[in-house]
Amino acid sequence: METTTLPRPPRVGLVSLGCPKALVDSERIITKLRADGYQMSPDYAGADVVLVNTCGFLDSAKEESLEAIGEAIAENGRVVVTGCMGNEADVIRKRFPDVLAVTGPQQYEEVVSAVHEAAPPAASPYLDLVPEAGLKLTPRHYSYLKISEGCNHRCSFCIIPSIRGDLVSRRPDAILREAEKLVEAGTKELLVISQDTSAYGVDIRHHPRMWKGEEVRAHMTDLSRELGKLGAWVRLHYVYPYPHVDQVIPLMAEGLVLPYLDIPFQHASPKVLRSMKRPANEAKVLERLKNWRSIVPDMAVRSSFVVGFPGENEEDFQYLLTWLEEAQLDRVGAFKFEPVSGAAANALPDPVPEEVKQERYDRVMELSARISAEKLAAKVGKTIEVLIDRVDEVPPPEDGADRGHFDAPHPQHHHGVGATGRSKADAPEIDGEVHLRDAGHLSPGDIVSVKVEDSDEHDLFGVPA
Ligand code: SF4
Repeated sequence: METTTLPRPPRVGLVSLGCPKALVDSERIITKLRADGYQMSPDYAGADVVLVNTCGFLDSAKEESLEAIGEAIAENGRVVVTGCMGNEADVIRKRFPDVLAVTGPQQYEEVVSAVHEAAPPAASPYLDLVPEAGLKLTPRHYSYLKISEGCNHRCSFCIIPSIRGDLVSRRPDAILREAEKLVEAGTKELLVISQDTSAYGVDIRHHPRMWKGEEVRAHMTDLSRELGKLGAWVRLHYVYPYPHVDQVIPLMAEGLVLPYLDIPFQHASPKVLRSMKRPANEAKVLERLKNWRSIVPDMAVRSSFVVGFPGENEEDFQYLLTWLEEAQLDRVGAFKFEPVSGAAANALPDPVPEEVKQERYDRVMELSARISAEKLAAKVGKTIEVLIDRVDEVPPPEDGADRGHFDAPHPQHHHGVGATGRSKADAPEIDGEVHLRDAGHLSPGDIVSVKVEDSDEHDLFGVPA
């Protein structure tokens, strides 16, 4: 009998650093490479070439990216670099002269051709290996959906506009088609991302496109409504509180969009916000939050804040603490200001000493942990919907005692099968989780009702209802 040996497809290793947006870029690159007949290698040893998708947002992220490149060179030797740090090709080449190619963010064609050059594709491409909706790095049941690139703002601490350029919005029908494919392929949650979701469509004057026989404007409200009709959870990230955001709140009340807003406020003091050149910094945010919650009482708001921005004095910081106390945000992330090379803020007077930054950081984290704990405690006894992320077999406790109930607040204290998921108030990676016991019948991607039995500062604990 005659047998044909197909050539071994070349293998690509991938190291993806940085934010969810970079992850989406990696997904696109991999999808294209898979279409060209490449396979992915889970380790350095098995890879014909290693692709490092870097992050260049903060100096610490750049250092992390350089370390990752160094490790890939040491472990494999054949390395292609892409992503935000690709804009600093000189720095990379000086430190690692052996790097095969350096390409910048969103240069998909360039990355793919650099990989083709480093490890030529096999003669017969395995086109059918690519799933309908592209290859995803995130678990199958949730997907990031990028609606635009770049940003029209010029926040003084940020260099993203100089790396990624001004806002370029995708067509609404293209986004909706991608989202529909993702849902058909098993996605239960769509995470809308961009640099500024509320500005979506401004660059293309909200130009409408036809979708399922109707015109849909390139506008956050229209897009959110149509996404909501696809039947998956829709979670909005990076929303600035422009007045038109008010129009999205009724969609939450209707159940089309999750009652969740990720608004990167960064500060509350008007003086600091002006100096940061933040968008929508005049908005009467506390009043608006109150209105939004009167329409959607269970709305969760997450935000991030920078402490120790140049010129921030104790009075500004106190303003932030009082504001936080009143705003009662559900999730708060804080960062100590770090100068990013190329950012305008570096030239601002009155830098804040490191120990003061640290002390302010600790105070913000302490306050937000208390608020978060109180808000989570209020959910105990309620029944909530939870999207299951993973199911874990939990070993019996070492002393053999089955405590049977949450006398110690963690499911690890129960043997049997536990599961971990997230409520509508929790985005993956950045927010809290819901830990379940007695969850042997569940699978990742299931959405189940859960009776909440306990809580701590970040997480909830419960049992399928
Ligand atoms: S809104 Fe500000 S922080 Fe966000 S990407 Fe644009 S310039 Fe940077």
